[in-house]
Formats: sequence, structure tokens, C-alpha cells
Amino acid sequence: MTVLSLRELNLSRRAALKHLNKISPQLGTIYRDNRNFDKGPLNHDAVTKLSPSIRHRILLEQEAIRITLLSHSFHNAEKFITEIFWRTYWKGWLEMRPTVWQDYKNQRDQDLINWQNNVRLIKALEGDTGIECFNSWVKELRETNYLHNHARMWFASIWIFTLQLPWTLGADFFLKHLLDGDPASNTLSWRWVAGLQTRGKAYLAVADNIRKFTLGRFNPENDIITTAQPLEWQEPPNPQRILQNEDVKSNVPTLLIVTEDDLSIRDAPLPHSNIVGIISLNSTKDRSITEVSDSVLKFSAEAIEVSVTDYVRVNATHITYISDGPIGEIPKIAHKLGVSQIVSLYSPVGPSQDTVGKVNAITKKQGLPIITIMRDWDTNCWPYATKGFFKFKEAIPTIIKQFNLT
Ligand SMILES: Cc1cc2nc3c(=O)[nH]c(=O)nc-3n(C[C@H](O)[C@H](O)[C@H](O)COP(=O)(O)OP(=O)(O)OC[C@H]3O[C@@H](n4cnc5c(N)ncnc54)[C@H](O)[C@@H]3O)c2cc1C
Repeated sequence: MTVLSLRELNLSRRAALKHLNKISPQLGTIYRDNRNFDKGPLNHDAVTKLSPSIRHRILLEQEAIRITLLSHSFHNAEKFITEIFWRTYWKGWLEMRPTVWQDYKNQRDQDLINWQNNVRLIKALEGDTGIECFNSWVKELRETNYLHNHARMWFASIWIFTLQLPWTLGADFFLKHLLDGDPASNTLSWRWVAGLQTRGKAYLAVADNIRKFTLGRFNPENDIITTAQPLEWQEPPNPQRILQNEDVKSNVPTLLIVTEDDLSIRDAPLPHSNIVGIISLNSTKDRSITEVSDSVLKFSAEAIEVSVTDYVRVNATHITYISDGPIGEIPKIAHKLGVSQIVSLYSPVGPSQDTVGKVNAITKKQGLPIITIMRDWDTNCWPYATKGFFKFKEAIPTIIKQFNLT
């Protein structure tokens, strides 16, 4: 049997859906009991490996839940469903506290300067630390652009507490190399490991736990620190309100801006029959101020291409498509196409949101502000992310009912 690569599993909606349907019978108690085992590169069959497609909304969170609930009761699939909701929660949490992303970027840029040429950092990034498991995860991340969730936790903990490196530079390394690199899940997970997300609680990787859940592949007994002092705590900002949807006209020529943050264009709440032009904007290179991995750049560029060309093919109307459009030219293109509005599916806090903001600053001056459309999933779920995940989790049964996912 051919095993599909991470790229192949996630690149198109068809492939991601096929994979999900195939494995959904295992997403109940089998997933619950086995998901924590990291069996090593190319052996991650206890988890879905669908995070790149879910992160780019090639596959929607609610679709993953709906398909899973076709084979399982909520009770049996609760663990998997909860994991899906972690992404929704992190996104909502960051959306209501955008300065946490800004602060991360400022600190990262400062740390990049302060730690330039630091030998410990260079060795860590090269997987040359004397800690076998850590070196192996560096290699796996660089070569496959994926790490199992448990490995991500151990990695971050060793990076921060054993190697005593700045968490922002570890987060940056992940964001540049993960195919699923996501501003919210990544930044907030690193903060959580560091003890910056939950007061007084840091995540400490323990040798026994690593040995057990890597099936004895690693046992870093004498290599990793056995206590963790959470980094200095700062009260997070109070949650601000989630933006409300703006009014979209349903019957005027429309230009659609597509970003790598939401590639399920076909089923999105858009004025489909009036879309005359599409411009894609890819901000993946802006996940860092240093170079993002080639495979990550290539994946998001291809994913955008697959999604838009599929959309253009299915919608028989003539649509002009400009791939990775030059930002300054957008008002001219809009004018040439004779459009009366520009719309974009909402990009959460992160590089795409910044890019759309820049374009909006230009088009607004020409009387064409970008109208952003937020999905019902986000407008309904994100406001629950006011406190910790366990508070958010209480809303899950209500959300599932509200979206008719059973
Ligand atoms: C330090 C650290 C950094 C991380 N960085 C990222 C990141 O940049 N992008 C990213 O998508 N995830 C990130 N995660 C979360 C998680 O590790 C991955 O989503 C998960 O490992 C993806 O593999 P999978 O699809 O096989 O997971 P599965 O176990 O099959 O889970 C199914 C889906 O649930 C969601 N999910 C599962 N666990 C989490 C979680 N802890 N947080 C958020 N969503 C989750 C994902 O959409 C995933 O595809 C990070 C976790 C840690 C500890």
C-alpha cells in the first residue's frame, strides 16, 4: 500500500476528505487510547496528520467533527473532538488579544539580535545538542515539516528549560518549518509550555514519559532538567470584542481576495455568482523575519493554487485570476474589472491579517474598503475563549448542537 506524504494528504480538499473518511472509524476510543504515542517519523498512524489542511481551512473544523460523529457517539469521540476545538479556542483567544502576537514578534526580533551567533542556539537549530531525542526531532521537523503533538511539547520544554533558550526563537523555528505553522496554535502552545499562558504552570518534559510514549526509542534520563520554573508571568490583556460581519452586497461585481488562511472558498458565504476576479495573497514568507522553509512556502502556494483553480473551474462564469497579486496594483485591477466591492474571508491574527490590512489601507482610499466575511463557526465559537480552555470546553456540546454536527 502506498503511504501518502504529508503534502499529498493535505494539499487538496479531496485528498484531505478522503483520508479523514478512511480513518474516521479509528477516531473514537482507538484515537483516545493511542494518540499520545509518538512512534517516530513516517509512523504517525495514531493521529490524523491533517493539521496542515485544517490550519489552511482546506478542511473545516466542523467538517472534521461531523465526519467523525458519523462513526462514533460524542462520548467515544470526545477526545478527538476536543483536540479539534483546541485550534478554535487558540484562534479565538488570540483574536481577542492581538497584542500578544505583536509582543511575540517584537520579542522574537529582539531575541534574534541578542542571540545571533550564540553557539548553544546554533547547535540546537542544527540538532547537535547531546540530547538524542531532541536532535532527532530537529531532524524530523526539518525533513518532514511535521512533529507529533507530544514531541512538540517535549521539544519546547527541553528548548526552554534544559537548553535555556528563548521561547520566541523556538516558536519561530517551528513556525518556519511546520506545514501547519499557525500563529495562534504555535505561539500560545509555546507560551503554555513556558508557563506564560496559565499562571504558575509550566510543562516539564519527563524522561520516563518520553521513554513510554516513544515506545522506548528514547530515554533522556540524564540529559534533561527535572524541574521547571515558569517564566516571568504577565497578566494577559483583557479580551476585546470579536469583529462583527460587515454587509456584503449580493448582486454587484465583486473582487475576491484569497489568502492562505481560508481555502474552502467553494462553500464559503460569498456572493459567488458575482465574483468576477480573484486575487490571491500569500503571506507565508512573513511567518518569520528570517527564511521560511522552502517546503512550507511551496505547500501554501500550491494549496492556494489548487483551491482557486478548482473554484474557477466549477464556477462556469468568467473569472479573472491573478496569483499572488502585487498589492499596489489592486485598485487598478479592481477598476479594470469594474468591481463595486472587494471581499475577503476573514484572516485571523497573523501575517495574512496584516497583509489584508495593508491592501485595505490602499483600496479604501479609492472608495473600495475590503469587506471581510467571518464564518459562522468563528463568530459563534471564538467569543467563548474569554478564559482557559476548560471553561471553553463546557460550550462544546452547545456548539455541536447549534451546528447540527450529530
Ligand atoms: C509547542 C507546540 C507548538 C504547536 N504548533 C502548532 C502549529 O503551529 N500549528 C498547528 O496546527 N498546531 C500546532 N500545535 C498543536 C498540535 O501539536 C498539532 O495541531 C497536532 O500535533 C497536529 O497533528 P495531527 O493533525 O496529526 O493531530 P491530531 O491528533 O490528529 O489532531 C486532530 C486535529 O486537532 C487539532 N489539534 C490537535 N491538537 C491540537 C493542539 N494541541 N492545539 C491546537 N490544535 C490541535 C489539529 O487541527 C489537528 O489536526 C502545537 C503544539 C505544541 C505543543
